[in-house]
Parts: sequence; C-alpha cells; structure tokens
Amino acid sequence: MTPPAGVRSLTAGLRGCLLLHWPQEPLRRPGSRGRTPAKGSFVSIQVFGLPVSRGVAIGRAVLVASSRVDVAHYFVEASQIEPEVQRLRAARDLVVEELTALKQEVPEDAHAELVGILDVHLMLLQDEMLSEATRQWIVERHYNAEWALSTQLEVVARQFDEMEDEYLRDRKADLEQVVERVIAALGRLGGDAVRDATSHGARDFAGEDPLVLVASDIAPADMLKFKRSVFTGFVTDVGGRNSHTAIVARSMDIPAVVGAREASRIVTQDDWIIIDGDAGVVIVNPSPIVLEEYRFRQRQVELERARLDRLRHTPAVTLDGQPVELLANIELPSDAQAVLDAGAVGVGLFRSEFLFMNRVGGLPGEEEQYEAYSRVVKALAGLPVTIRTVDIGADKPLDTNQEERHEHTLNPALGLRAIRWSLSEPEMFGEQLRAILRASAHGRVRMLVPMVAQMREVRLLFDAIERAKTQLRARGQAFLDVAIGAMVEVPAAAIMLPTLLQHFDFVSIGTNDLIQYTLAIDRADEAVSHLYDPWHPAVLQLVARTISTANALGKEVSVCGEMAGDPAFTELLLGMGLRSFSMHPTQVSSIKKRILRVNAAAWAGRIDLVVEAEDPQAICARLHTAASSPDGG
Ligand code: PEP
Ligand code: MG
Repeated sequence: MTPPAGVRSLTAGLRGCLLLHWPQEPLRRPGSRGRTPAKGSFVSIQVFGLPVSRGVAIGRAVLVASSRVDVAHYFVEASQIEPEVQRLRAARDLVVEELTALKQEVPEDAHAELVGILDVHLMLLQDEMLSEATRQWIVERHYNAEWALSTQLEVVARQFDEMEDEYLRDRKADLEQVVERVIAALGRLGGDAVRDATSHGARDFAGEDPLVLVASDIAPADMLKFKRSVFTGFVTDVGGRNSHTAIVARSMDIPAVVGAREASRIVTQDDWIIIDGDAGVVIVNPSPIVLEEYRFRQRQVELERARLDRLRHTPAVTLDGQPVELLANIELPSDAQAVLDAGAVGVGLFRSEFLFMNRVGGLPGEEEQYEAYSRVVKALAGLPVTIRTVDIGADKPLDTNQEERHEHTLNPALGLRAIRWSLSEPEMFGEQLRAILRASAHGRVRMLVPMVAQMREVRLLFDAIERAKTQLRARGQAFLDVAIGAMVEVPAAAIMLPTLLQHFDFVSIGTNDLIQYTLAIDRADEAVSHLYDPWHPAVLQLVARTISTANALGKEVSVCGEMAGDPAFTELLLGMGLRSFSMHPTQVSSIKKRILRVNAAAWAGRIDLVVEAEDPQAICARLHTAASSPDGG
C-alpha cells in the first residue's frame, strides 16, 4: 500500500532532515582516544548539584534516558564484535518484518495516518545512518548492541529536539518507539542479550577510557543494576542527598552527584567530565590544568582507601574501652561478601524491597525469598542478619506502572508505604514472613519492620507473624527464635517508644526518614534538599531520646540511616550512648578509624549542650576543637 501523499512528503522531508542533521561522524576515531581529553579550543562548564558519594571520577559521559536505563550495559570481547553487529542486524530485520506484516493487516478503511506512521517507522529503521552509527559504537567502543542503540538514540534525539519545525520535532517519539522495538527484539533473540550487565560489566577493559553515567533520573532499582558495572561515576538531574537512588550510589562507593538539574541537557554524549563527589560539582570538558588537579586528588583518595583497608580486622573500641558493633546495610544477597570483606560483624539492614522491584512476571514468592535470605544467612555464618520486611512506596516503586500511579498520588511518602503496604497485601506479607522465619534455621536472623507508627499496625503485624509460625509448624518446616524489631523513622514511633518496646525486641533508627518526616521535607526532592538537615535540633533530640530510652529499658538500639556512616556524627552518636551502627560496607573502615579516637564518656557529658543548642553543628565544631586539645576527649 502506497502511503498517502501527505505522508510521502513527510517521509521525504524527514529523510532530508536526517541527512542534514544526522551526525556523519558520531564517534571520535579510536586513535584520538586516550587518557586525556584532546587539547585545543574547548568550553569548560561547571554544573552544581548535591554531593552524595565521595571521591573523584574522570571519564567520558554516557548519556542515558531514564526509560532505557535498564538495558544491559557491557563490553563485548573483540572476537564477539562481528556476531554482536549481526545480532543488531537480525533484530532490525525482525522489526522490519513485524512492521511490514502489521501494515498488511491494516484494514482498507483504516485511518491512512496509521499506515503513514508505520511507513515512517520502517523508514527510520532502515536508515543506514541509524544502523551505521550504532554499528560504530559496537565496533569502536565494544558496547553491546542494546547499549550502542540507546547511546545513538540519545545523540539523534537531541538533534530532533533542536529542530525548528514542530512536526518534525515530534517525530522523536517515532524514533524512540522504533528503538524500543529493536531493543525488545534483541531481547527476544537472546544470545548476548540475556547477559546480565552487572556480571559482565565489571571486566577490566584495559586501555579504554573510563565511563561515567549521566541521566535525568535513575530509579533506585535501575541504579542497583549498575552495581559492579562499567561506570566509574554517576550524575543525575534530579534527586535528594538521601533519596534511595543516592543511597544505592553511595553503597557502590563511586563518586556521584544528584540534583544537578541541567546536567543531562548540558553534557553531550562522549564529553569528558569530572565528577567531584565531595563538592557536588560536575565539570564538563575540563581544561588540562583542572584535569591534572583532579587526577592528583583521585590518587590521594586511593591512598586513603588503602590506608583504611588495613583497619579491616581491628576491633571497633573507643579510646575509653567501649566496644562498638559495626554492621552493614545491604540491598541484594550478592552483597554478603562485601559485608565480610569490610570487616563488619553482621548485617544491620537488609533492604528486602530490592528483591521486589522491577520484576518481570510477578513478585518473588516464599521459596525465592527463602533462598535469597538463606544465602545471606549462610554466608554470614552465625553473624546476625537483620532482614527488613519490604519497604515499597515513596521513591521505591514496585515497577514503572507503580511509578506512574505514584505520580497521581499526592504524597507518596505519606501514602501506602512499608508496613502499611505489607498489611494491605496479606498474602504477599505471609510469604515474606514465612521466608524470613525459615531462613532462621540457617543462622542468626532478626526481623525489622519499617515505618511503624500505630499500635493497630503493631497488633496486626504480630498476628501475621503468629499466623506465619502456625503455618510453618503445620507444614513441619523449621525455624528458630527471630528477634522482632521496629524501625524508628516516624516521629510518632520515637515519641511513643516505651509503649512500642513492650512489643518489640529491638529498634533501629532510620535517620533518613526520621529527618524527612520530622522536618516535612521530601528526601527525594532536590528543590527542598537545602532544608533536609540532619543537624536540626528536633532530629537530634529524637535520636538522643530514642537511644537513651532503649538503653534504659535494656533493649538493643542501632542506627541504620545514613547518619551512622557519616563520620561527622560518630562522636555525637557515641556520646548519646549508641553502641551499634549499621552502614554501607564501604564506610565501615572510616567510621572505625573515627571510633578508635573517641572518648565516648567525655562526649556523653556534652550531649545536652549540643542537642539543646539552636545550632548544634556549630557547637559540635567548637567541641571538636576543644576535644583535640591535649586534655580533651
Ligand atoms: C532510613 O530511613 O533511615 C532507612 C535506613 O531506611 P531507608 O533509607 O531504606 O528508607
Ligand atoms: Mg526508611
């Protein structure tokens, strides 16, 4: 069927436009690559954001649109380049076949525009400029086909954005749809596409330029896919310092800046950039002198890391002899080894929700969860493993649809999140409770419940746990004693702690949410991130009160929010009486280093002065100066 005249002229116009604007040489030749950006005329730009993960990353930018973040990113071995190009071709041919068949099925009386759209898609698909440029990313950079295709899409999409003709500009959506189809076809073809980005990305690709990821936004679950990936740094336009995306970036221990607003618009594919994760600055196309300065800082950070590594097996004991428990926070069972490598003495927070997010084909069932939890419990060999029941909601949606749903929810952080969601899904919750209980047969398991705020929820929770135990007994399945703890992350829980502790065996303070809910600041919203203040007296008073109440009642208390891994708060928390900290494995050594130098008793005497001050941070700084004098603590 011939496209109608209007569409024919559109396609002709579109093709003309593509020939004009499509990058004729989208990649630098391999010879022009090297450790240093090319000298010559360049415009260096600084973009400011929020520092979320320390250190310096220097590399070439890989721009990724949020919707395509979850495509696999890995390097293809030299011997696999031709097969990878063939795979791309096969996927494209498959989509051409699909679209051609679809066109033939369009009834005669159907809207002519529909056929026209299919023609535009076929034309885009078969345009050598798209396939040739994508092929180049594979051949020259060794990107896998999905990565090459989404990279090229970013390049071309930007050119569409800049077109003056609105009608042509809108064709970007067609291009995106075509690329999505080819990516889906690559998945169906299998082969390399089934490779997991996380397991293959870690390969040392000697001689290649390091890569940093730049995206408008990355969902926490997508961020997780980049663990042990090829990227050495991250920048996102949106996000707060303690958003879950930022937390996952921090857990990877690679420099990251979030809330950099315009970054993904300013940076272009393949630009050299520096990410200063301490200052929250991104430098695009740095001058050679700036680059040299940052390379020096990079070496300093590496030296400091090597020094800290030596503390791994040193017990954490304060100057005045107080032993301190340093636990680790994890997201996935595969993180268990990092806990042991860091010298942590257990898991203080296993964020089980990451097993539930971005799944194809339903939520994980009891068996799958049991396997996942048991894997960690067995790996920890008798050390405690604190498994938190699922904390879905707010900035951790189950999937994209859920995310869309949340966009229409006025206040997702105040909505059906954590224990509230679990209690509203009794079947799902029963499966999780049974899986956690069963994992206790392999070691020391503790169960932690997020966002506890109401006694009604507490009663329903314990009923559900009893029901799960009864079911396991009826099935003859083993489980041991599991201590049940509550997260103190809503002010209500901190205020009514004595009542809560009549029911729970221990508490863990989630400072990330306690700050959010005490100060009414969405932790994921960069527009109010300057008001997200862990030093706020109200926050510190709630933390101090929770620790002292739990200690007085003889119940274990830990802090598992980001405050535990921030050395700025170590003295203060020890002075409040805290003896159990849980943090990212990568933070354990630096907190230990700090603990070894603290006189906890001396700081205990200073706590009231700090938490009752109008500006606790300033008082703390003054006390530090005094404490570093010869007779200080
Ligand atoms: C917290 O709120 O401090 C916490 C540890 O939980 P999450 O960051 O997963 O909300
Ligand atoms: Mg929380």
